[in-house]
Amino acid sequence: MNPTKLLLCFGSSLILVGCQPMRSSHMEPQTVYRDYGSIPPAAADQPDPNWLDHDRDRPLPPVITPATPSNQDQAGTAPSDATVLFDGKDLSQWVSVDGSPTKWITRDGYMECVKGSGYVRSLQNFGDCQLHVEWATPAPGQGEGQGRGNSGVFLGLDRYEVQVLDSFESKTYADGSAGAIYGQYPPLVNASRPPGQWQTYDIIYTAPRFDAEGKLLSPTRLTVFHNGVLIQNNVRLTGPTSWLERAPYRAHPEKQPISLQDHGNPVRFRNLWVSELGKPGKKEFTLSKALLDGYSGKYDNILVTREGGQLSAKVGGVKFLLFAESPTRFFAKTTDVQIEFPSSDPTKVDRLVWSVGEGAGVAMKTK
Ligand code: MG
Repeated sequence: MNPTKLLLCFGSSLILVGCQPMRSSHMEPQTVYRDYGSIPPAAADQPDPNWLDHDRDRPLPPVITPATPSNQDQAGTAPSDATVLFDGKDLSQWVSVDGSPTKWITRDGYMECVKGSGYVRSLQNFGDCQLHVEWATPAPGQGEGQGRGNSGVFLGLDRYEVQVLDSFESKTYADGSAGAIYGQYPPLVNASRPPGQWQTYDIIYTAPRFDAEGKLLSPTRLTVFHNGVLIQNNVRLTGPTSWLERAPYRAHPEKQPISLQDHGNPVRFRNLWVSELGKPGKKEFTLSKALLDGYSGKYDNILVTREGGQLSAKVGGVKFLLFAESPTRFFAKTTDVQIEFPSSDPTKVDRLVWSVGEGAGVAMKTK
């Protein structure tokens, strides 16, 4: 029997129904297009053109153990595939911004800001991610407005702040209150708990993208849940968050550390974890400038230079920006160049091991 087509008209809408006789009792019925003036979606309109609808070859998502929730007395646990940044024990995943040991303290399962000690940042860098943070401001509440339990969660190192503040029955300007994208977007609601109580942020971060010339291709986007309530819905940042000015974007590598602010108040944090989104890749770390300076120098025909917080290497006359995948191993992203320093002790850095294409070797430090 041939397939039949029925044209059904309802007002100005056209519904095209393709009918295929059932070939066996377990078959799915033929796709039915309900067409309101357009053609059926082309392959390019599929969510992912690499896969058919209900493609049986499409990989299933990885199975993980989900997070367990916290309560006021006890921190929960991270999902099994997350990177745990702080589990209540130690600050091994955190350093000062310059890479030196931090003076923040840990006590009774939380970490606490020590006034004047500066921001803490993660050793590891993260691009697009889901970040879970729990925080508590001092109790009883002390100070007013921006001076009351102020800290902050920064993505992109120190560029994009989700404000941490005691905003429970305490007033300040809207774009500086708890959950604000500081100076840009007030939270949709004030979901604050009283000072001293544990509160949660679940943050979805989309890093900005820049082209090779440093031109902005797409802005930073942030979604934030505060104590489970949506307070920032995929907002597009105008640039880095800042006080008193509208700062412009400046190009930076996609993956950067996560930082917590020292604003002079002893704000506490616990149960910090992050899940990277997007394509899996190598881990990346931001190393101290002192360590990078120790690696800088001329190694036979390879020149290694520190540029800000990163190394570059001139190999075969071409300069490559290097990314650290460990304290001693580096890689480039444009070409498969790898460089390893056998020692991270500045007094013993006398060579490097390089590889690119079919070549590999050891280069000795000449100056
Ligand atoms: Mg702040």
